[in-house]
Amino acid sequence: MGLSLGIDFGTSGARAIAIDSSKNIVAEVHYPFTNANFQDWQKALFYLLDNLGDSVRSELKSIAINGTSSTVLLCDNWGNPLSEAILYNDGRGIAFLDAIKAIAPPHHPVISATSSLAKLLWWSEQEIFSQARYFLSQADWLAFLLHGKLGISDYHNALKLGYDLENLCYPDWLENLPMFNLLPQIFAPGTAIDTIKPDLVTRFAIPKDCLIYTGTTDSIAAFLASGANSLGDAVTSLGSTLVLKLLSSQKVDDSNYGIYSHRLGNLWLTGGASNTGGAVLKKFFSHEELRNYSLAIDGQKESNLDYYPLLKAGERFPINDPFLPAKLTPRPDNPLEFLHGLLESIARIEALGYQRLQELGANKLERVYSAGGGAKNSTWRIIRQRHLGVPVLLSQQDQAAYGTALLAQQSVTLLK
Ligand code: ADP
Repeated sequence: MGLSLGIDFGTSGARAIAIDSSKNIVAEVHYPFTNANFQDWQKALFYLLDNLGDSVRSELKSIAINGTSSTVLLCDNWGNPLSEAILYNDGRGIAFLDAIKAIAPPHHPVISATSSLAKLLWWSEQEIFSQARYFLSQADWLAFLLHGKLGISDYHNALKLGYDLENLCYPDWLENLPMFNLLPQIFAPGTAIDTIKPDLVTRFAIPKDCLIYTGTTDSIAAFLASGANSLGDAVTSLGSTLVLKLLSSQKVDDSNYGIYSHRLGNLWLTGGASNTGGAVLKKFFSHEELRNYSLAIDGQKESNLDYYPLLKAGERFPINDPFLPAKLTPRPDNPLEFLHGLLESIARIEALGYQRLQELGANKLERVYSAGGGAKNSTWRIIRQRHLGVPVLLSQQDQAAYGTALLAQQSVTLLK
């Protein structure tokens, strides 16, 4: 039946997962990196293909890649990057925020110092810009290395570039920019673009009819992996920060809260990210302490400690206050009580986040899947369920590469 390969480029490494027609994982390869740029990505991509194993490679029928949202490249006519890529969290575009506000609709996700559009405008004032022919996202460029086609992207990677997701076209205010000719043609995520390049067929012994599909972003790939698939389903990512995503029939955008919606077929994936989360837990507790202390906490009982756990002042969602102070007092002597208070408080913020999304028009929350480092904490799941008032489940798969493999396999029903 053939195998499908999903490749995830995240912030701390790249991972490939191959699945069979029953969606079982048959191979997984990881390549860790930090502060990587395009040279490392290319190395990682070929390392992953090299290490999949002959038998897996010889059965590949489809490949898709997800990248980090708003990590972008400027390329020449042959796809060679003209400088280092600008990474997702690089805020150098801040000087162009007023220019963006002047053309984009209010509350649009491009109104951010780290948006792809802000990065493009920053580049437009650099000397190398005159040689630029293509402006691409990380996932677009990596897919180009496999199929050889330039100027192609998907509507997930193009959201923060300003692509109109409702009408599936570039809006006039973007078409009127002098650098519009650099922008890629946009397809739905999971669209077949071409077969793999002949030189890679020879190098890796991959079947020559293996198709390369358009990809997605890392956080959407993790959502696809979770198993969430109907209206009101949500995924909370309990990583270093707290990221919420809720599947809705209505689009919700509010740049004040950093809330935006991705399109998923005919539905919308609304979401926001809070600065609270596991990074604060990690500051006070080791991995073992988090696990062991949590097991000793009674999650059914409410802690009356009311914190706002942050590493530094400032929050965007669900409270928009750039100066919001961290609240971590009173701190009890007993570390169990302190941890209980932290878990309870983060759960309150999660519930407030979903409430905020619903107030702004998202569908009623029905079910929450959990992903990220804190997802396996069963005590926390009980605490969160008390605050959320809906079933809290573990994601079926928590690797973004798995979600991207489903995309390559054409088995994401929401996109059909
Ligand atoms: P990242 O967002 O950096 O990719 P991960 O998804 O790997 O993060 O999650 C790491 C976070 O998970 C850490 O910040 C850590 O505090 C948190 N974490 C790890 N184990 C637990 C646990 N048992 N309970 C709660 N949080 C945990």
